[in-house]
Amino acid sequence: MARLLEGRPIAERIKEELRKEIQNLKIRPVLASILVGENSSSEVYIKSQQKTAESLGVIYQLHRLNQNITEEALIEFINKLNSDNSVHGIIIQMPFPNQIDYKKISQYILPEKDVEGMHPKNIGKLLFGKAELLPCTPSAVMELLNSIKLDLYGKEVVVVGHSEIVGKPLSLLLLNKFATVTVCHIATSQAGRLEEHVKDAEILIVAVGKAGVIKGNWIRQDAIVIDVGINRLGDKIVGDVEFEEAQKRAAWITPVPGGVGPLTVTMLMRNLIEAVRMQI
Ligand code: NDP
Repeated sequence: MARLLEGRPIAERIKEELRKEIQNLKIRPVLASILVGENSSSEVYIKSQQKTAESLGVIYQLHRLNQNITEEALIEFINKLNSDNSVHGIIIQMPFPNQIDYKKISQYILPEKDVEGMHPKNIGKLLFGKAELLPCTPSAVMELLNSIKLDLYGKEVVVVGHSEIVGKPLSLLLLNKFATVTVCHIATSQAGRLEEHVKDAEILIVAVGKAGVIKGNWIRQDAIVIDVGINRLGDKIVGDVEFEEAQKRAAWITPVPGGVGPLTVTMLMRNLIEAVRMQI
C-alpha cells in the first residue's frame, strides 16, 4: 500500500523558511495580481494566493480589470506595473476573455517580475538549467520528489501531458536532473500506447485534466505517482489517476486534493522573493 505524498507539510516547511527570508529582506514584497473580467475558478485561486501572501507578510495587490479591456490597454497597464519600483512580481490570472492572447500579453511582463516563470526569457534559461524563476506547478512537483530524497539520475520518468505550463517545463526540470524522460500526450493515447509507457514508469507524473485517464492497474509495482490533475466529479475533487487501485501498487502517491495543489502557491511566493532579490 502506497504512502501518501502530501503537499501541505512540505508547503508549511517552505513557508516557514520564506517568512524568515522576508524578515531579512527588510522590505515587504509586493505581488500585483491582474484579473480580467469575472471567473469563479480565478476567485478561488485569488483567495488562496491572498491568504498565503498575507500569512508571509507579502502585500497582495489585486487589480480587477474590465472584461472588455483591449490588448493595448492591458499592455499599457502591465507596463505601468513594470515601471513601478514598489511592485516586485506580476501575475495574470487565467482564464482570459477571447479578445486577449495570453501568450502575447505575458511577454510584456518584465522577466525579473515574471513570478510565474513563463516569460520566454525565463523558459530559455530553464532550457540551460539556469532559471531563477521557475514555473510554479513543475517546481512544486520537483519539491514533492525532493521531499522523499529521490535521486532522479537514470530513473525512468513518464510525464503525461505536454502543456506549456506543466508538462513541457517539468520535462526540462527532470532532464536537468538526468532522469530518462518520456513525455506522453494526446497522440500517445490516440496511438493506443499510453498504457505501455505508463507501465514502464518508475516515476509517473500526470497532468491531463481528465478523471481516470490513468488506470490504477497500469501502475508499476513500487512506482512513485504524482497526480497534478484537478477534476470535479459531482461534489468531489479527483485527480487523473484511479487512486484506490493505484495506491495498492505504488510506493508513494499524491492525494487529490492535498498533493501538488498546496505547494503551487508556495512556489509562487518563493519566486516572488527571488524576484525581490533580483531587483534590489
Ligand atoms: P492542458 O489542458 O493545458 O493540458 C493537458 C495535456 O494533457 C495536454 O498536453 C493534452 O494534449 C494532454 N491530454 C489530453 N487528453 C489526453 C489523453 N487522453 N491522454 C494523454 N494526454 C492527454 O492542462 P494543464 O497542463 O493546464 O493542466 C492539467 C491538469 O492539471 C488540469 O486538471 C489542471 O486543473 C491541473 N493543474 C493543477 C495545478 C495544481 O496546482 N495542482 C496547476 C496547474 C494545472 P493536447 O494538448 O495535445 O490535447
